[in-house]
Order: sequence, then structure tokens, then C-alpha cells
Amino acid sequence: MNQNQLFRSTRWRLAGWYAGVMGLILGVSGFGVYEAIAHAHRVSANQELKSVAGMLHDSLEPTLRQPGRLETAAKRRLPNLCLMRDRTVDNQTQSTLGEFCTAERHTSPAHRLSAIHQGDYFIRFFDKSGQLIAQSGSPPQQLSTELIPENATEQSLLTLKDTSGLRYRHLVLALDTPTNELWGYLQVGRSLADFDDYLASVRIMMLLGLPLAMLLVGVAAWWLAELAMRPIYQSYQQIQQFTADAAHELRTPLAAIRATVESVLRLACISEAESRETLQVIERQNYRLSQLVSDLLLLSRLDRKIQHNQWHLCCIQDLLNDIEEELAALAMTQQIKLTTDIQVDQPIQVLGDEEQLYRLIFNIVVNALHYTPAGGQVKVSLDCRDQWVLIHIQDTGIGIAPEHQKHIFDRFYRINSDRARVSGGSGLGLSIARAIAQAHQGTIQVHSESGKGSQFTIRLPKSV
Ligand code: ADP
Repeated sequence: MNQNQLFRSTRWRLAGWYAGVMGLILGVSGFGVYEAIAHAHRVSANQELKSVAGMLHDSLEPTLRQPGRLETAAKRRLPNLCLMRDRTVDNQTQSTLGEFCTAERHTSPAHRLSAIHQGDYFIRFFDKSGQLIAQSGSPPQQLSTELIPENATEQSLLTLKDTSGLRYRHLVLALDTPTNELWGYLQVGRSLADFDDYLASVRIMMLLGLPLAMLLVGVAAWWLAELAMRPIYQSYQQIQQFTADAAHELRTPLAAIRATVESVLRLACISEAESRETLQVIERQNYRLSQLVSDLLLLSRLDRKIQHNQWHLCCIQDLLNDIEEELAALAMTQQIKLTTDIQVDQPIQVLGDEEQLYRLIFNIVVNALHYTPAGGQVKVSLDCRDQWVLIHIQDTGIGIAPEHQKHIFDRFYRINSDRARVSGGSGLGLSIARAIAQAHQGTIQVHSESGKGSQFTIRLPKSV
């Protein structure tokens, strides 16, 4: 296939398209999977954050008495809580928040929230005016000590990024005293570093995996393109072979006619006997030509599976008797005993084209006569099994070697060209017979042994 320019370029194009489409599908699916993973992580992180914030809010709110003041009970519930000692210092000083926080730490082991304690979380308390009162956990250093989320309405989840590029997700909830007075605000947040690291490793895996997948897709595409084109290439080769064979078969009688006409034209004068002989040669070759052309036309009609509206019930016994009658003279000339054995009493009918069915049986019986030497025997028998009509044509002829048996139904295939040509065959007889049998939903099988004879079995569906 690769030697043929047309097929090679088509294969490249097909493989290219296949690889391109597969690559696109893989890319889009990979992106979809990545987004699904990211979304699932985002949702679970948000849910965890909300539940931690809600739990803190619900457990701390009952302990709050005075707005802006954290009671001891509240302090004990939080790990590593650090309180702002002097809230009157200016903003510049407050940026060094860490210094203040080391002074007053409540590290009671009691009631620590496990998620917060794992280190990813931070908690901050703001008074009504938005000034930081206390914080716990590990908040990003760059966060302002004022209530950050100016735009954050209560309960909205927001993402922050510090100067080193680390991302944080946080939530702000209002805290009220038991007298329903606003106490201040609770900010709960968590670092998204682990989540971002995980997504980064997924991205790297995908970026490394995609070229490898594309390589495999490319190899698979090249192989699949060959697989898809193989039957097309085979039928292309068959058509090429058929065209060459047909041209060769047509050329022979045409060349014979031309040679005859040219030799006669060279003569100064021509007798009546010579002209008659010339015309007879032309007629013979013309007959051969028209026979060949009609065989080719029949094959092409059978190939196109044209639905025949002349199909009707044909009596197989009648066909066999007609064929025996027609070939009796030939059998006698060749000193072959031709017999017909019909083992069924009722008329056996097959739905089909009578002319074609006649041709199907005729071709095989004629072959049997042609390839059986004098003194031999050709026996045609008819049998019925289940819903099938079986016609056996058995001869005691030269037989067919096993290596030829699978080719004899091919167009223009002749085992011994010279001998077959003498018998008038063009190598289309059996291919026409098989095409007719297939058009009638039937089959032909051959059993043969070199030097002993052959048996052809035609199987056709019986009409009930
Ligand atoms: P042809 O027109 O040459 O007979 P066919 O298609 O009818 O072509 O047959 C193909 C070849 O099969 C023949 O050339 C012949 O060699 C072989 N063949 C067909 N029938 C028989 C048979 N009954 N015995 C031996 N050889 C046969």
C-alpha cells in the first residue's frame, strides 16, 4: 500500500486527522477531568471552612458578654490565641503584629478544634469598628489588622493572595451578645497551599502525560488508517487486475481481426473462398468479443445487485433436463457419458431469474465436459435438504489441485491458460456462476482431487 502514492498520502492524511481529533478529545477530556478535580476540592474546602466557621460561631457566641471583649471561656476554646495588648498604637506599629501576639497566649489543651489545630486555619476577631482584637492559628503575615473584607458581606467566601503568592480562603461572620447587640466579627480562613500544590502536581502529570498519549495516539492512528484502508486497497488492486485482464482478453480477438483484415488488404485481388474465410474469422472473433462483453456486463449487473423484476418460480428439474438436452451432442462428441439423476418426485422450485439459473448450472456442466477426457463420466444430480436445493455436478476429469481451488472463482483465473483458451474459456465462467448463486442467496462449493475428478455443489434456497 505504501508504494502507491495515492494510498500513502491518503493514509498520512487519515492518520493525521485521526490523531488530531483524538488529541483534541484527549485534551478537552483532560481539561474536564482537571476542572472536575479542582471543583471537587474547592467544594470540599468551602464546606469544611463553612462548617468550622459555623461551629466556632455557635460555640463562641454564647460566651460573649461585652462588645469587643473576649471572655476567658472563649479564650479557652481556641488554640494559641493571641490578644492585641495595645489597640491605640498606630497602623505602622501594628504591622509587626507578631510581636504583640507572643505575649499573651492561651494554650489550654481543652476543646481545641482539630481542623484549626492542624495548622491550615486561622481565626481573627474584630470589634464593631473593624479593629483586630485577637487571632489564632497562622494567618498570612500581610493581612491588615483591620477587617479586611471591606467588600465581604457577611457569610461570603473570599480568596486572598499574600505577597508570596500563597492563596487563602476565608469567611466573615458577625458575632452578637446574648442581648442581641453586635459584639464584632469573626474571620475564619485557611491556607489553600496544599490544594494548590495538589493541582500543580495534577497539571504537571497531565502536561507530561499528554505528549506520551499523543505519541501512542499517533502510532495507533497510523496503524488504524492502514487497517481501514486495507479492504479499499484490496478492491482497488482487484479492479486494476480486472481492468488489465479485461483489456488483455479484449485485445486478443481484436488483434486477430486486425491481422486477418491487414493480410487480406495486402492482397491485390481476393477470391470468393478467401473472402468467405476472412469473414468467418472475423465473425468468430466478433462472437468471442460480444460473448466477453456480455459476460462483463452480466458480472457488473450482478455486482450492482440490481433487483430483477423478472424473478419468478423456476423449476430446477426442467432446467436440468434442458441443459442435458443442449449438451448431449457435445458430450457425445467428446465421448463422455452425461447423466442426470433426479432424486425427488415433486417439482423443485427456486425463486429467481430463469436465464441466470440456467447459465449457472450450464457453466459448471460445460466445464465438467471440457475438463474430462474421453471415456469419462459427468453426472448431474438433484437433491433437497431442509430448505435447500442441492445440485451436484460430478465428473471423472482432470481434477483441480488444492492450491488452485480457492482461486478458480476469481475473474479471468485459468489454471492452464493454453488448454482453457482452446476450450474457449475466458476464465469468467465460474465467477459468473458464483455471482449468480450469490445473487440468489446461494453458494457453490468444490471438492476435487487432481487426476481423479471434481464435484461442484450448488446450494440454492428452495421456494415453498
Ligand atoms: P474457463 O472459462 O477457463 O473454463 P472458468 O471460470 O469456468 O474459466 O474456470 C476456471 C478454471 O477452473 C478453468 O480454467 C479450469 O482450469 C478450472 N476448472 C473449472 N471447472 C473444472 C473442472 N470440472 N475440472 C477441472 N478444472 C476445472
